[in-house]
Amino acid sequence: MRVLLVEDDAALARGIVSSLRLSGYAVDHETGGADVVLLLKQEQFALIVLDLGLPDRSGFDVLREIRRAGDVTPVLILTARSSIADRVRGLDLGADDYLIKPFDPAELEARVRALVRRGSGQPDPIVSCADLQYDRSSKIATLRGEVLPLRKRELAILESLITRAGKVVSKERLIAEVFGFDDDTSPNAVEVYIGRLRRHFGPSGPRIVTMRGLGYLMEPVASESGH
Ligand code: CA
Repeated sequence: MRVLLVEDDAALARGIVSSLRLSGYAVDHETGGADVVLLLKQEQFALIVLDLGLPDRSGFDVLREIRRAGDVTPVLILTARSSIADRVRGLDLGADDYLIKPFDPAELEARVRALVRRGSGQPDPIVSCADLQYDRSSKIATLRGEVLPLRKRELAILESLITRAGKVVSKERLIAEVFGFDDDTSPNAVEVYIGRLRRHFGPSGPRIVTMRGLGYLMEPVASESGH
């Protein structure tokens, strides 16, 4: 899943980016609010983490502009201001949640997870496909009760596919969600990770179908085997 962070404090931004990337999110970072609305027209994010005190304009203005443009991406605001009036204003302008600085990275991650889940229309952290269960909170995938030893990128690709089981997910979308545009990614990387996932699933696990020229699709039901 892809997250947009808008934060001008370099040290804080570095910390947030690395902690979210470790949790398997693709993170894009903007240091000001000027380009956010334009960026949202071009790219799709699962969540925006928005600082209220930006150098070029107020986060409130950015938020107002996002919502006026009809964009419903969940927004988590970060504020150094502890006044209730500011928090209320943020929520009234269409923010979904807020965090007061300084905050613990674990709390940020928990709120990010909850907002991403809600935004995906699947508030339950556990999603299933055939015999495979995936817990988006703990990032653990189990096949017939056995934990699969998946790595970070494999989990991210699995999460993208399984939350849209039965639908085609384009390669571009997977690259954007799993790697973000800061990473230098070869298009073949996705194929490599898909290949690894298929090996982990084995012949009787869920099937990832290649839709030539379109992308990949995780079949919503178990493939027939042994019949
Ligand atoms: Ca700031």
